[in-house]
Amino acid sequence: MQLELPWNDSAALQEMLEEESGLSIALTVTDNSRNLLSVKPDGAPERVVVRMHHMFLAADTKTLRALAEWIRRPKAQRSGELLDAFIRANRHRIRPQARRPRTIRVCSRGRCHDLQKLYDEVNQQHFDGQIQAHITWGQMPQQRRRRRSIRFGSYNHELNLIRIHPLLDQDFVPEFFVRYIVFHEMLHAFLGISESSSGRRQIHTREFRTREKAYPEYARALAWQEKSANLTRLLK
Ligand SMILES: [Zn+2]
Repeated sequence: MQLELPWNDSAALQEMLEEESGLSIALTVTDNSRNLLSVKPDGAPERVVVRMHHMFLAADTKTLRALAEWIRRPKAQRSGELLDAFIRANRHRIRPQARRPRTIRVCSRGRCHDLQKLYDEVNQQHFDGQIQAHITWGQMPQQRRRRRSIRFGSYNHELNLIRIHPLLDQDFVPEFFVRYIVFHEMLHAFLGISESSSGRRQIHTREFRTREKAYPEYARALAWQEKSANLTRLLK
């Protein structure tokens, strides 16, 4: 498990936590500001239901190990303290209650890349123009410490909105890479949310992976992403 690579999704995080804790975990990542972290038994032995705030997607290895330990033994003191410290340091990621009906500005035209243009191309070429989602550059997150990972894109089902990380709007980021990220998020919009027989949310299903691999620029985009010089430059 390479923790330096971007956490594109909660599925990879779930896998890591399962590995570390030895438990089978039904994981839900939330934006709930009242319940930041909870673990409950799931009826069957060695199975738990974990709900966590999305701030944990930005956690480092040490915090994630503490999290896995805490999931296994919620009364463990040392890991509990570590998690408390992490939550305190990440308060800024918690959505203020009063701002709930917030307006979202949608802006697809960047300095270097025009997301709407890429979206329209991909929609025609790969989805028969069927997708009706919104797309925007995300807002630059406030950064206090050195960035360790980057989430290139996301798709919000409730808002039907694709957000692409603003750091991708740079000259050295090739258009084929941005287009691939746009395609990936559009595929989420296309396939929707599916659940496994146990009711667990499936993010990258087998069908998702198959369709993604069939994307003509998949290997090229992956090669660009995996070139460490590119990631280093993005994280700077
Ligand atoms: Zn994804």
